[in-house]
Amino acid sequence: MERVIVAGGGLAGVRTVEALRAQGYPGRLTLVGAEPHRPYDRPPLSKAVLRGELDDTTVDADWTALDCELLLGHRVTGLTDVLETTAGPLGFDGLVIATGASPIRLPGDGPQHVLRTIDDARALRADLRPGARVAVVGAGWIGAEVATAAAKAGCRVTVVEAADTPLAAAVGAEVGAKTAPWYAEAGVELRHGVKVASVERGGLELAGGGSIEADAVVTGIGVRPETSWLEGSDLTLDDGIAVDERLRTGRPGVFAVGDCAAWWSSTFRRRLRVEHWDTALNAPEVAAANLLGGERVYDPVPYFWSEQFGHMVQYAGHHPVADTMIWRGDPAAGGWAACWLTGDRLAAIVTVDRPRDLVQARRIIAAQKRIDRSALADPAIPVRDA
Ligand code: FAD
Repeated sequence: MERVIVAGGGLAGVRTVEALRAQGYPGRLTLVGAEPHRPYDRPPLSKAVLRGELDDTTVDADWTALDCELLLGHRVTGLTDVLETTAGPLGFDGLVIATGASPIRLPGDGPQHVLRTIDDARALRADLRPGARVAVVGAGWIGAEVATAAAKAGCRVTVVEAADTPLAAAVGAEVGAKTAPWYAEAGVELRHGVKVASVERGGLELAGGGSIEADAVVTGIGVRPETSWLEGSDLTLDDGIAVDERLRTGRPGVFAVGDCAAWWSSTFRRRLRVEHWDTALNAPEVAAANLLGGERVYDPVPYFWSEQFGHMVQYAGHHPVADTMIWRGDPAAGGWAACWLTGDRLAAIVTVDRPRDLVQARRIIAAQKRIDRSALADPAIPVRDA
């Protein structure tokens, strides 16, 4: 193998470059990234960067030692026999696609912030002034974190959510409802069951009539995998780039990792596309090994965290496969968890301010061990297998 290209300059991109070199790939290596910046971490953007405590989250990588050609500010535009890019066509023996995901925007001519890049974060931070009316559309992970930062900055914050509870799409309405009181406690108005039609100058137009005035609008209604440039190629696109349990596309030598990849999960017996940091961090090592001739399976228990309204929320597993949910601890009385089971196996857990539960549960999910339900429901007993 003489030339490998990494498409996308986010965390999954830099981790791929590092993994290829760490695993002894000696050939030519090129990273093509649309942003003008070197790869950086995104989780702090909605946390320390918005709070003004951090301004640079560049990943600490030694690009000289990595001997990697950086084509920053260039896009990959198509995949034929070669990789089409705005810097010209590039031939390759191996290709790892890590083009991530992009935020969905609302219709309308009014200004709206999204939060995906460091430039987005800096622009939004400048608008979080004391007294400013900030309307956040979407009470998902990003919306909740932005509302936290905006409230802390002294803004008057309204969060508008189409579903009946926060986090409904992520963890279901029953669990999401337990986070609703956090908004009022932080002085944030939560308007649920309200659909936004468009963003106009001066605020939001609502689908059912009426409007919400705002000095700044932040749209946090989800992302789409960045795969449109692959339409018409021979890769299978199905809510992301479809890859197998070894992160291989159907085309030899072409792999996909991170937010853009939907991989076959041996544990959950379905394709998963997980838009979280841990996947971008760890999948590249497996893709690099397999590109270099290995046979490694990528079969993690998906994991992520969110810091919102003073709480550490963590999730591991994949709850849509579950048939039962068990509460652990009382949401009204501090730290708690919701545990999902398939039969007598733990499928997923979400914990609030109980990091130890998360670590223990993640191990049990990975090992697919049986669990004792009554012990699981008792927060005084550590999460353990039966
Ligand atoms: P990305 O980070 O999206 O990187 C993809 C890169 O490819 C981008 O730089 C993009 O510009 C580039 N690109 C796209 N198209 C092209 C193209 N055609 N040509 C060339 N380059 C292209 N996860 C957690 O687990 N916990 C958190 O608390 C958390 N907080 C987050 C907060 C924010 C504000 C955001 C945005 C994300 C957060 N995440 C969090 C998610 C996590 O950051 C992502 O899962 C991770 O960044 C995905 O990495 P990636 O490299 O796959 O994709």
